[in-house]
Amino acid sequence: MKKRIFLLLLPLLFLACTKTPITGRNQLIMMSADEEMKLGLETSKEILENSRLSRDKEATEVLKRVGDNIAVVTNRDYNTTNYQWEFNLIDNPKEANAFCLPGGRIFVFTGIFRYMDSDDELAAVIGHEVGHALARHGAERKSSATLSKIGVGILQVLNELDDKSTRAQKDESNKLTEHMAQRWIMLPHSRTQEYEADHIGLVLSAKAGYNPNAALRFWEKFSALKSNQPEYTSTHPTAKHRIEKIKELIPSVMPYYEASKKKEVKKLEKVKDFIPLAVPFFKD
Ligand SMILES: [Zn+2]
Repeated sequence: MKKRIFLLLLPLLFLACTKTPITGRNQLIMMSADEEMKLGLETSKEILENSRLSRDKEATEVLKRVGDNIAVVTNRDYNTTNYQWEFNLIDNPKEANAFCLPGGRIFVFTGIFRYMDSDDELAAVIGHEVGHALARHGAERKSSATLSKIGVGILQVLNELDDKSTRAQKDESNKLTEHMAQRWIMLPHSRTQEYEADHIGLVLSAKAGYNPNAALRFWEKFSALKSNQPEYTSTHPTAKHRIEKIKELIPSVMPYYEASKKKEVKKLEKVKDFIPLAVPFFKD
């Protein structure tokens, strides 16, 4: 049994404690920045090989313009020049979503433009995704999953050694341990990262000259059409809680916005103007 527990604890040797930029939260990461970048680039390549990029020039340009403006302030203020920022627009009007990969590859689906009326609102979404990359949330999530597995594994080994329990009781207890780890460790952790990405995103987009109030407008529109899954069963906070937190943060980020060179707000096209492609377009 000692050997089994030792093997479970082995990954702890690679544990590193860091602090997130802007929010200053302590985080545990068991992956080097280089490894993380490599993983992000490999996944990005796979996604690009299997996705159809939008051919809408205007929307693609808007995304790149807003993305580049945010990447510039991130590199300038948070030493991320090793990141390879790239902003890809995926042609999928039904998907209102965006995500980021470690190292700065951001993907936005055309469906999210249904909720956008200005560059400022798009900046709220891009800022959030850049926030995930800047705070190394992908590597942290992977590390937390490993740590949670170690804890669950140790409890399950001890449970197996309990002579008084029947096989059925042991199976039940093992299942319960996994469920508790998911409910009380992984899901709350994921929600913490979401709030943090909102916070970092507000700072970055304000520094890049985008109005932080637009984040509220975006989330209000977005939440009207999203399901109301109970927060404790979800990886994401409810829109209501998200809006409350953003409201609280706005006064603290307004000075960044006021200090930045204010940019012209350009109206975006609505999703109905996106022409779905008849022929799939793959980037080579
Ligand atoms: Zn997020």
